[in-house]
Amino acid sequence: MSELRQDPWSGEWISFSDHRQARPLEGADGWCPFCPGDPADHEVADRDWDVMVFENRFPALGGPATWPLPHPGYASRPARGHAEVVLYAPDHEAELGSLGVERVARVIEVWADRSTALARDPEVQSILVFENRGREVGATIAHPHGQIYAYPFVPSRIVQQMRAAEAFTRSSGLCLGCEVVARELKDGRRVLAQDAHVLVHVPFAPRFPYEVHLLPRRHVRRLAELSAAERRALAAQLCRLVARYDRLFGFKLPYVMLVHEPPVRGPLAGVAGHLRIAFLPPHRAADRLKVVAGSELGAGAFLTDVLPEVAAERLRQAGS
Ligand SMILES: [Zn+2]
Ligand SMILES: [Zn+2]
Repeated sequence: MSELRQDPWSGEWISFSDHRQARPLEGADGWCPFCPGDPADHEVADRDWDVMVFENRFPALGGPATWPLPHPGYASRPARGHAEVVLYAPDHEAELGSLGVERVARVIEVWADRSTALARDPEVQSILVFENRGREVGATIAHPHGQIYAYPFVPSRIVQQMRAAEAFTRSSGLCLGCEVVARELKDGRRVLAQDAHVLVHVPFAPRFPYEVHLLPRRHVRRLAELSAAERRALAAQLCRLVARYDRLFGFKLPYVMLVHEPPVRGPLAGVAGHLRIAFLPPHRAADRLKVVAGSELGAGAFLTDVLPEVAAERLRQAGS
């Protein structure tokens, strides 16, 4: 059963999927459902492919569509939408940082194709491509993969970001993303890398100490609008960033990667959103995690003990 309920205290939609309790976890014996193998207990049988997409068998959205009983006084609806898994490679040990530029460019192309296809569903309002790497951020299967959620509503964080972008455009006539690219290049202190197509930087006010954003320098709203040259440049910068993260503390740094595209339907779909890829590693030091606790959960007020300019310098020193 999958159900969306609106929290009357915040207006946020929360997804409930009790079938997800049964989802597989990677076995201690090395069994992995995403490695090619026997179709009885593996998602894919053959290994002759580069990038593979399939529907999540234990989806948070778009699961068994049982219309929930109405809850008097509250707003609820079936959790329509889609949840897909994108396998980056048949090889269990591969990852974004080591796949190579060609393969990562192919992954980006697949993200773009799936985002475009999912946007055709008239029930879908917002799409999020993301990757959770590491147990610290809830990844239950180590095989290199990302996910794509297509929501039948615009989630609250995206509403908040789109409203900020809309307000900026209303007061200045400019795109916020284009302006951030210009500001960061001019300042330079938070820039990690740049080329003709992509800027990689620690944002001015990140929520996580080693958060990094990648933006196309040209005004691009969606993945599908990237040119082949931009896709390749973005792939090269993604590889370099993940390799840099892995040298920061000398271990594979866990992270959440988010691909921010503007909503496809609803009142915020027309906002001049600028494509942005954000990496949020939970570590604030080699042996300490940034815990989302009282102030963050209770007030949405993040506290960070590393200045963004210092984080950028440490990341630059980790080599490119
Ligand atoms: Zn595997
Ligand atoms: Zn722009």
